[in-house]
Amino acid sequence: MTRSKIVKKLDSIFSQYIRLKDSENDYATCFTCGKSDHWKKLQNGHFQSRRHYSTRWDEVNCQVQCAGCNVFRQGEQFIFSKNLDLKYGKGTAENLQIQAGQIIKLSDSELQEMIKDYEKFVQTII
Ligand SMILES: [Zn+2]
Repeated sequence: MTRSKIVKKLDSIFSQYIRLKDSENDYATCFTCGKSDHWKKLQNGHFQSRRHYSTRWDEVNCQVQCAGCNVFRQGEQFIFSKNLDLKYGKGTAENLQIQAGQIIKLSDSELQEMIKDYEKFVQTII
C-alpha cells in the first residue's frame, strides 16, 4: 500500500472509532452544538487541522461533530476549545495547539499498527 492509501485508510477507520466510542444506541452528540444524530450521519471533527500529523489521530483533538459545525461553521473552533477545556481540564486546547506545531514522523508500519487497533475496536461495536 502507498503512504497516501495507508493515511486514507487510517483516517477512515479512526473516524469510525471516534464516532462509535461516544455513541449510545447508534446515536452520538455533536461536541460543539449538542445535536444528536445517528453516528453515520456525523463526522470526525478536528480541533487542530488534519494537516498537523501530530494531532491528526489524537483522541482528544478529534471529537464527534455534525456537518453543520464541522464543514459549514469551520469546525466552531472557539466553542470546540472551550468544550475541550471543560471535558479534559483547563489548558487542554492550548496544549493541543502546541502539540499540533510539533513535527512527528510516523512510519508506515506504525500507521498500519494503528489501523489494526482501531479496526479491532470498531469490529467489536458494529
Ligand atoms: Zn454541531
